[in-house]
Amino acid sequence: MKLLVVISLSVFCFVACQSNNHSHSTENTSNQPVLGKDLVCDMEVTDSTYVFDYEGKTYFFCAEHCKDEFQKEPQKYLSKK
Ligand SMILES: [Zn+2]
Repeated sequence: MKLLVVISLSVFCFVACQSNNHSHSTENTSNQPVLGKDLVCDMEVTDSTYVFDYEGKTYFFCAEHCKDEFQKEPQKYLSKK
């Protein structure tokens, strides 16, 4: 029983340490430049995972969901300024 707690704690620590690992300069989450604004949810995007090119411009999104929404109706979000 105690062993189980120790194992789950060390797994949690491992995951937490992984997500806070700033040793790789390309994965420095605390000091990432803002690439652009997610027009769907108005969030600043620092991650280039979800990108969509539209009319010669590159748009960045925080998640697949936002990208999908934009792809469906780009004009809706572009005219929303
Ligand atoms: Zn978003």
